[in-house]
Amino acid sequence: MKIEKDKVVMIDYKLTGEDGSVIDTSDGREPLAYLHGNGGLIPGLESELEGKAVEDSFSVSIPPEKAYGTRDESLLYVIPRKEFEMSDQLKVGMQFQAQNESGIQLLTISKIDGDDITVDGNHPLAGETLNFDVTVKEIRDATAEELSHGHVHGPGGHQH
Ligand code: ZN
Repeated sequence: MKIEKDKVVMIDYKLTGEDGSVIDTSDGREPLAYLHGNGGLIPGLESELEGKAVEDSFSVSIPPEKAYGTRDESLLYVIPRKEFEMSDQLKVGMQFQAQNESGIQLLTISKIDGDDITVDGNHPLAGETLNFDVTVKEIRDATAEELSHGHVHGPGGHQH
């Protein structure tokens, strides 16, 4: 069986950044399960996995445009400290969610200058070239229920 749209795929992976540091890995955990062709992974990784078979291994370097996007400096906002809950405990690197017109946005505090708090709405990996080492562990047909939900159920997937 080869990887194609609507297959359930399990992969072991290691993600390293431009400086070679490990950002994320499935090492020591269950493989990652995803439903191929449904936007579950970044586009550059899904296109690389297309057509692969179990036990195939590869390394790929994915530019920001095919990963989490380029950085958008218009997503930096300066917010007065008093607008925050627990305003006396703010630290650079803290993340929180905010509701906006397009849904839930993840914001990261990128700078604190007195009572001016700069938050960054870019994905933490925006602008990064991502290096993946991937091994395909398992490929199976998706169930009708998984297809209707658009994600994988069971180990490595959604538990509900
Ligand atoms: Zn579901």
